[in-house]
Amino acid sequence: MKLHILGCGDAFGSGGRNQSAYLVEADDRFFLLDCGPTTLLAMKRAGIDPRRLDVVFISHLHGDHFGGLPFLFIEFLYQTRHDKPLHIAGPPQTEEKVRQLFHLMYGGSPASELPPVNFHILQPGKSAVIEGIEVLPFRVPHQTHEISLGLKINHAGKQILFSGDSAWSELFVEHARGVDLFLCECSFYDQGTGSHVRYIELLDALPQLECKKLVLTHLGEEMLARKKELAVAMAEDGMVIEI
Ligand SMILES: [Zn+2]
Ligand SMILES: [Zn+2]
Repeated sequence: MKLHILGCGDAFGSGGRNQSAYLVEADDRFFLLDCGPTTLLAMKRAGIDPRRLDVVFISHLHGDHFGGLPFLFIEFLYQTRHDKPLHIAGPPQTEEKVRQLFHLMYGGSPASELPPVNFHILQPGKSAVIEGIEVLPFRVPHQTHEISLGLKINHAGKQILFSGDSAWSELFVEHARGVDLFLCECSFYDQGTGSHVRYIELLDALPQLECKKLVLTHLGEEMLARKKELAVAMAEDGMVIEI
């Protein structure tokens, strides 16, 4: 199984990095973790046919994590037909917000019709199986009212933990135990607003993290400026991780 880093930047495009998107390539399934605005572009740059996508998992409904879906939809409507339905799984309100966004961006007949899409709502703490891919969503501290999710994926004998956007949480220590890859957001080094991981907090928790591989992502300018000081691997756009 491979994980393609399509976008490891934050909402601000820090360091010229693409926004949040990670493509998992398994023998039988292609699926995305998040779909930031630059996702389709990054897939094409990597030579990946968007028609191969089976499922898009969305961690939360901030624009840098789901704002790329309308571009996938117009791709499937007008460029490369996607005959099988695309499954989209995200927190409550995913369907409403995705439909609103598509209507705002490409509304008006006939474009307001989505290509074939099946929506699935992920409830925190309830595992689900979508197109044969097992996911355990859990709520993380990032948004105040809306639900932000961390996602633990279990597929083809491999486990991936994705933090989504979140402040540091002890939940990550628990869920990281034994996983093949923990993709952890780390927007800041020691500053920030309290809704994202700070590197210094992660460093404190490092001895307790029992994942096989840890890669930092969703990197802001402060992290990029201190790249050489870091003791943990950082994601790069275009990187492919063997799991
Ligand atoms: Zn974000
Ligand atoms: Zn966010």
